[in-house]
Amino acid sequence: MPELPEVETVRRGLEPVVAGRRLQRVEILDSRLVRPFAPVEVALELEGELVSRLDRRGKYLIFRFESGRVLLVHLRMTGSFVHAPAGSLPDDPYRRAVLTLDNESVVAYRDVRRFGTWLLLEPGELDPYLAERLGDEPFSEAFTPRVLAERLQGRRAPVKAVLLDQRSLAGMGNIYADEALWRARVHPLRPAGELTKGEVGRVHAGIRAALELGIARSGATLSDYRTANGERGAMQDEFEAYGREGEPCSRCGRPISKIRAAGRGTWFCARCQPSSPRRSAPARKRSDSS
Ligand SMILES: [Zn+2]
Repeated sequence: MPELPEVETVRRGLEPVVAGRRLQRVEILDSRLVRPFAPVEVALELEGELVSRLDRRGKYLIFRFESGRVLLVHLRMTGSFVHAPAGSLPDDPYRRAVLTLDNESVVAYRDVRRFGTWLLLEPGELDPYLAERLGDEPFSEAFTPRVLAERLQGRRAPVKAVLLDQRSLAGMGNIYADEALWRARVHPLRPAGELTKGEVGRVHAGIRAALELGIARSGATLSDYRTANGERGAMQDEFEAYGREGEPCSRCGRPISKIRAAGRGTWFCARCQPSSPRRSAPARKRSDSS
């Protein structure tokens, strides 16, 4: 499932293609994509809209139109976009929509599992819609270690579950949560509210480092995900924990373990990420205090 780095990679590939372009013709070939609305009606509403920008928030892509409306796209499991010159699209039984731009090139949307969604929002509707569903953006200035500590505070759920909760933190999924916790040297089942200040700081740094590497490698391609140019990502070659059961930890050599956490397959190093935090020596009381 595309997570923040995969969606950001799609955004970076697609933005120069669509920005400043008018949607000349829109075909929506699958009613699931826009339900409960009728595909023909949504397509008609989109035709003529001028794309001013392509943004991302969490795992959502946001086509911003000059009119103030937005098309909010979630790729879910297997959604992807590909850009092509007019008339050059191969047959594809999984094509769900086609945008024809005013330079005659086309942007096709493909989705094998059909969980992806397109939602056309009127001016002013986007912010409340996202505010209800998404927490902090991991790369925003507002997302500090202190803010992360507030999100974790008082929660008995495993820290991994909190990282996966989009209302706490937007954009993380199973891959990057495991990669972030490996970097932080924090066990995925640790109760979120029990992390020390130092651990929270390491988780914060681990989240950003894992996501940054994911973006730098154009995301991870495990099955269907492709960049907007149809290429595979390379993050799967950089995994330290995710999917590496039995392979040596690159930090300590111990084989990576697999458990279930937050209902998901979870990979971690049992030596680097102990289930109870190693107590550092308590700060010695000054005996000479007066
Ligand atoms: Zn290790």
